[in-house]
Formats: sequence, C-alpha cells, structure tokens
Amino acid sequence: MPIRVLPEALIDQIAAGEVIERPASVVKELVENSLDAHATRIEIDVERGGIGLVRVRDDGAGIAAKELALALSRHATSKISSLDDLNAVRTLGFRGEALPSIASVSRLKIASRTQGAAHGTEISVAGGKATGPKPSAQLAGTTVEVRDLFYNVPARRKFVRTEATELGHIARLVERLALSRPDVAFRLRSGERVLLEAPVSFEATQVDQRLSAVLGEEFLTRAVPVSQRSGPVELTGWIGLPTASRGQPDQQFWFVNGRSLRDRLLMNAARLGYRDVLFHGRHPVYVLHLTIDPELVDVNAHPQKLEVRFRDSRQIHDFVFRAIERTLAATRPDTAVAPSPPPTVLAAILPPELELPTLLPRDPDDFPRVREVAPLDPAVVGGPPPPPAPPAQVSADRRAADASLGTAIAQLHGIYILAQNRDGLVLVDMHAAHERVLYEQMKRQLADGGVPSQHLLEPLVIDLKAHELDQLIVHRAEWEKAGFEIDALGSTKLAVRRIPVLVKPGAVADLVRSVLHESETGDGTHHLDAAADRMLATLACRSAIHANRRLTLPEMDALLRQMEATERANQCNHGRPTWMRLTMTELDQLFLRGR
Ligand code: ADP
Ligand code: MG
Repeated sequence: MPIRVLPEALIDQIAAGEVIERPASVVKELVENSLDAHATRIEIDVERGGIGLVRVRDDGAGIAAKELALALSRHATSKISSLDDLNAVRTLGFRGEALPSIASVSRLKIASRTQGAAHGTEISVAGGKATGPKPSAQLAGTTVEVRDLFYNVPARRKFVRTEATELGHIARLVERLALSRPDVAFRLRSGERVLLEAPVSFEATQVDQRLSAVLGEEFLTRAVPVSQRSGPVELTGWIGLPTASRGQPDQQFWFVNGRSLRDRLLMNAARLGYRDVLFHGRHPVYVLHLTIDPELVDVNAHPQKLEVRFRDSRQIHDFVFRAIERTLAATRPDTAVAPSPPPTVLAAILPPELELPTLLPRDPDDFPRVREVAPLDPAVVGGPPPPPAPPAQVSADRRAADASLGTAIAQLHGIYILAQNRDGLVLVDMHAAHERVLYEQMKRQLADGGVPSQHLLEPLVIDLKAHELDQLIVHRAEWEKAGFEIDALGSTKLAVRRIPVLVKPGAVADLVRSVLHESETGDGTHHLDAAADRMLATLACRSAIHANRRLTLPEMDALLRQMEATERANQCNHGRPTWMRLTMTELDQLFLRGR
C-alpha cells in the first residue's frame, strides 16, 4: 500500500480509541468539561448503560455561538495556548480531543449559551457530517447529548459489556467526580431512576454528608481526618481505620489538584502507610486530596490522565506514606473513637441469642488460635510493674473514671479480658492486644539500636529446603536487626546462634517457618524497613500471650495500661481489632431497659 495521509474522520476515530474506551469515558470527558467551565450544577442522564444515551447538562460558562463548531474540531481548546500553560495546567482538559473523538464514534449534539447571550446555539454531528449551527432553546450553560455510542465502530462495540456493567462503571465514576468537588451539585439518572443526588456542600458538615452519601453512613465513624503539609505539598482527607478495611480496593480515592486518578505511586504510598496495621489481603479505604503546585506535576502522562508524573516522585511517595503512617499511629485507644459494634449488629443480637464473642467481627482468614498453657513471664508484658491489686469493686469504680480502657474485672474463657470503664463494658482480645504492645515495643528497641538478644551456647540447627534457606540468608541483615544471628550450614541447614531475649529457644524453628511463610505470601512491599518490621510482627505474634493463659487482675490491668500508652493499639499487627466497647446505653438496649 502506498503511504498516504489518513482522512480526518479516521484520525478522530483513532484518537477516540485512546480516550473513549466505554460509555463511562464519555461521561468523564463531558463532566470534566463542565467542571472546567465552572459549573455549579451538573446533571447526567444515561440510558441503556450509556450506550443508548449520555446527556450532560451544566450551568457553566457556555460556548460562544461562533466558537461552537471549533469546539468540535481536533486540537481545539480554550484551556492552553503555550508550552508554559501546558507545564502548569490547572484545568482537567487541555488536549482538545474529547469532543471530536466522541463525535466520531457516536451521534452527538451540543447546545450551548453563554451567560449574556440572547439565545442558545446547537450543532449536531453524525457520521462525520455536521448540521448547524442553528438557534436552540438552551438555557445558560451547555448540554451535550451522545447517542448510539460506537454505532459505527463494531470492533469497539464488541468490547462493551452488559448495560448493567457499564452503568456500574458510570455510577462509580460519577461518585469519584462527586467526591472530587463537594462544592458542585451532581445528579445521575439512569432513565427515570435517580442513582445519585448530591447537593452543593460548602460547610464541613455538608462535605461530610457527601462522603456519607457516596461511601455510606459508616465511613466517617470508622475513619480519621488527615491534614499534613510539607512545603508546597498538602495532603488532606479521610483515611479509614484499619478495622474498616475491605476485601477489595474499591474505596480508595485519590485526587491530585481536584483530578481523580488511579495513580500507582500514590496507591503504593498509601498501602505502605498501612503496612503495620493491615491483615494480608485486606485493603484500606480512603479519600485523599493532594494539593501541589501544578508545575511540580505532569498530567500529560496518560491519555485518560489516570496517572500523573511527579517531578520528585520519591519525595511525594515518602511524604504521603509518612503522613498516613503518622495519622494512623496516633489512633491510640480513645473512647472518642471507640470501636463499638455497629447498631445493626446490636439489633441483630437481641436476646436470647446474645453471645458476646460474636460481637467481635472475626476476619475469615484469621489464623487458628494456638492453644498453649504456659506461665506469663512478667518481662513479656514489660513496662512498669503493675500496681498492687486493690479490692476489685472499689478500685474499679474509682480508677475507671480516669483510664480510658478501665479496670479489668475478669477473664473470659481464657481469651478475652473484661474491663469496666466510665462508659460501660470493655472487651479486649488479650492476644491481639498484647501482640500490638510487643510489636511497638520491639520496633522502638529496633530504632534505638537493636532488640536485646542472647547468644546460644549451642547453635540451633533447622532443616529447610534450599530455596527457603537462600531466602532467609538474603535477609540476614534484617534478622540481625531483629536480634538473630543466622548463617547457612551447607545448602539445607540453618544455624541460629543468637536470639532475642523475648524468644524461647524451643520456639525458634516455628518462628523461622512462619517468617518464611509470611514472606512468601506477603505483598512484597519493597521498602527498606519492611522486611525487618515484618519479622518483628511475626515475632510479636508468636511471643504474645496466647489463649488459655490465666492472667491475674493486676496483669490484665497492666496490659490495659500498656495498650493506652501504645501507638496503633486499636488493632493487632494483622489489623484485627484489639478491643471493643459496649456502652451502658447499648447494654440497656440489649436488655430492653429504659433509663
Ligand atoms: P479540552 O477539554 O481538552 O479543551 P474538549 O474537546 O473536551 O477539549 O473541548 C473543547 C473545548 O470546548 C474546550 O476547550 C472548551 O472551550 C469547550 N467546551 C467543551 N465543553 C464545554 C462545556 N461544558 N462548557 C463550556 N465549554 C466547553
Ligand atoms: Mg475536555
């Protein structure tokens, strides 16, 4: 075939292939145009999952009648005019590609009217042919109607899924857009059905309402606000508590200067921020806004602008990761954010089915509890020696008033500590709580120069597979930091010469195997400290008091006091809750007792 220049219509269709993947892409491009035009209300109507119709109506600045045809031609934009503009883009669009691309794969009608204009103007395009401009009954603002998407591109049409799936994509997209701009009203309808109605919110409480509207009422009760700044970069928003994590990463929202993204660097940084507090395979929830000088970020890195390039990506990554980690670390036991069973759970467990342990949401991939009975080593609990036990009842009432987790009153089935505080009953999963206390203690020791360790007179020799041995030896430096000295004896034997004082020699083989197992199933976060921390986490889990260990009241109190003084004490290293509260009011409800 001879070389030739492609016809315009085909060039537009090729460009459409990049930006218009499915009906939701049309919604995205049109709504972003409305936002760029400073709309305060955006109404989106779709039919048949957006394949039949996508209509976006806004009350924005509008397009002048004489420019309307130009808006539909390729590389025509009002948003940038020079390279300098491109380098500091503040608008969502700038390529001048969306309208001509959409018009080339659908039947499109655009009607617009600028604020002062006497009447509106409209143009229709189908099959590369434009009709108009002609006068239109349009009010101030712009309406774009896109019908029969991909009617002339059968190859693309084939990739479109069922109407329900496409509608799902649209709904999720509109939710993201609605979260990005609480100051703009959104309405999404599919046929007659209203899927989202989000009024304008300026006040903080209204912004909360929008979050609840999109993410559910529970989101805010299980999240903490983030607000951190470093030079020209600011991170604000909400991050879910580890106990609010989900099985899928479907509630993770990133906005950079108001633009919704699925940027890998940012998502990784967030995941790293949760590395200590999330069970493997769980995903945090968050809504995060990064505000940054537009010159420090290149948004022209992805056709759909889903990813961006930061000028200093390492710095942004570390800032985000530390901001999240710091915010999570500050979530100490605090009755203000006490994990109470949600009201629906309470309603579901009215007597006679009342069974306390079921109140604790158990993770399905919870590891089996190790049943072992051994005396509690006071050095394990660590910290200041517990105060002598005063007569239980008096002390409970007196001290409950000033300690947030209250005073221990009993141990339940060797698993839970029951305590009472000012508000009511506190239930503590003793293993989970102790695990977190130990882990944070060891991390502190690690940071202060090393975990105290002891030399073994005879090295412990453990038989392993060759690849397992390699895997351990590669991480020798981390093992050393965690208090172990290891080396290889031949190709399948591991010699352990030094172990942390916390660990009993008899437990070492088991420990080594569980570290191996965790590093195989771990998500491979390539961060410097991650390996050592993971090892400490396993160590803490293995060293923590296990079920069926009898604790005295002073020992239980000591653990409660340590929890109060420990960072991230609301979750164990696996992200499971360590404690829960039943307030007197909740108890009264359970017993149908009016007060
Ligand atoms: P881009 O958004 O990259 O500039 P588009 O093809 O999406 O390219 O739009 C072309 C131009 O049409 C925009 O630059 C803008 O001037 C105008 N335009 C499109 N949609 C609207 C709208 N809803 N309100 C006002 N102007 C619009
Ligand atoms: Mg655009």
